[in-house]
Amino acid sequence: MKTEIQPQYHVTTATCACGNTFETGSVRPNIRVEICSACHPFFTGKQKFIDAGGRVDKFKKKYGL
Ligand SMILES: [Zn+2]
Repeated sequence: MKTEIQPQYHVTTATCACGNTFETGSVRPNIRVEICSACHPFFTGKQKFIDAGGRVDKFKKKYGL
């Protein structure tokens, strides 16, 4: 019954919404993230990209795109 209790944890490439890619550990072969160390305001001190992304999402929802 208890087979594959632990999923394979390996290094994979994560793609961020900002276009940056970096290696991270995951059970998935490819993952997408909305934020990374390259665009996180905690690291960059900027929040323009995040604000813009939020507005785009709202815009799409508003017009049903
Ligand atoms: Zn990023």
